[in-house]
Amino acid sequence: MKRVWILFLSLFFIINQAFCFELIMPTEKKNATTNNYAFIYGKAKPAEGLSINDHYIHVAPNGAFAHTEKLHEGENRIVLRTLYGLLIYKYYKTTPVEQEIFTEDFENTKAYVNHDNTPLRSTPVDAGLNRIGHLFGGTHIIVNGSKGSFYRVVLSKDKEAWISKNDVTLTDEGFYPAEFVNMDSERYKNAMIQTIEFTKKLPYTVEDGEKEIILRVYNPELSDNSVYNLSIPKPEKYVYNISLDEGKYTFKVRKLNENPKETTVVIDAGHGGSEKGAIGCLGDEEKDINLKIATNVAELLKKQDVNVVMTREFDANLPLEDRVNIAKENNADIFVSIHLNSIGDVPMDIHKKRGTGVYYFNNHSKKLAEVLQKSITHSAGTRDDGIHAASFAVIRPTEYNAVLVEAAYMTNPLDSVLYTNEKWIAKASKGIAEGIIKYISK
Ligand SMILES: [Zn+2]
Repeated sequence: MKRVWILFLSLFFIINQAFCFELIMPTEKKNATTNNYAFIYGKAKPAEGLSINDHYIHVAPNGAFAHTEKLHEGENRIVLRTLYGLLIYKYYKTTPVEQEIFTEDFENTKAYVNHDNTPLRSTPVDAGLNRIGHLFGGTHIIVNGSKGSFYRVVLSKDKEAWISKNDVTLTDEGFYPAEFVNMDSERYKNAMIQTIEFTKKLPYTVEDGEKEIILRVYNPELSDNSVYNLSIPKPEKYVYNISLDEGKYTFKVRKLNENPKETTVVIDAGHGGSEKGAIGCLGDEEKDINLKIATNVAELLKKQDVNVVMTREFDANLPLEDRVNIAKENNADIFVSIHLNSIGDVPMDIHKKRGTGVYYFNNHSKKLAEVLQKSITHSAGTRDDGIHAASFAVIRPTEYNAVLVEAAYMTNPLDSVLYTNEKWIAKASKGIAEGIIKYISK
């Protein structure tokens, strides 16, 4: 009996070894999670038939498959079965208890901003599209309340904002209210510049309105009615920049050049080095595909005499702020970051999540997103995953038009057939390059 048992065990072991999965996710047999869904994807043999918890799973001809399974509270078993065996994964799901956070009010308190590029937000949340300005280091502000990790900033009688507690220092130093010094305006062929000067650094917001861009500078220490509005009419394709030197704001709106030969385009291959980006069903790494597409796009643009700068030309780590600095140092007109998408804990039919999406942050880059989206889906034959506003660091600067292209989904089995094919990579690159040229020259 014992021998039979050993024989059985070793047979089982052999079968299990031959049971050919290469799972990208999950990586562990036991998983603790707060997600609502388990995301299971990887590679299997199409001929061996795959089911997950008794749902039939379609496996693409190249072996790619992906599935999301809804999780209930407590222990969940995920059973992957093929003709030759089965594997069991366990998920223990808990729901985090959300504590309600209340706003605390306090007396007007003086504070200063610790460093440049500090987000000023419309809500006390560190996420999403709630940035209404980026304050400079040394700006004097007044706060009169707090919620969670944010202070409430007083801008004027009817305008408040939120700033992270980590970004400011409260002080009882006697600030004096800023005094207005002067204002000026200069007009150039392709740009308009307005300046406004105070005796110290004040908080501001920018509004990219229907017809004009409005810079508002607040002086709440003087009075809660003290707001200075500067507005510059918008050309059709434009970029803008706000700089602060001591107490002097320089607000510049520039019209983009319509000649590709006089345009600087920065092409950014997403991720790199130890930052692999998304991992595809077949184990491909996003960073490599991004670099291939980026290199092709750069070559195609160079053929049109566009001044092209690549943020990375090799497989190397490159921090996000370096990518932004490269664009600023080269006086970029256009910045295109190239990526492939993935899904995490998304409660949806993941097979619908495929194709090309283009993301923008500033209003002035929306048109570029639209033109690229059309051009890529047309050239590469991908599904239209839409254009979306999103707050990614590389596309937040205002001094150039910036978009982030998600050419296809690494986690979608059908898209995996595309992005592993050199011909598709060439078509996607062509779509991006042609879209950029079309946008520049109308
Ligand atoms: Zn990416």
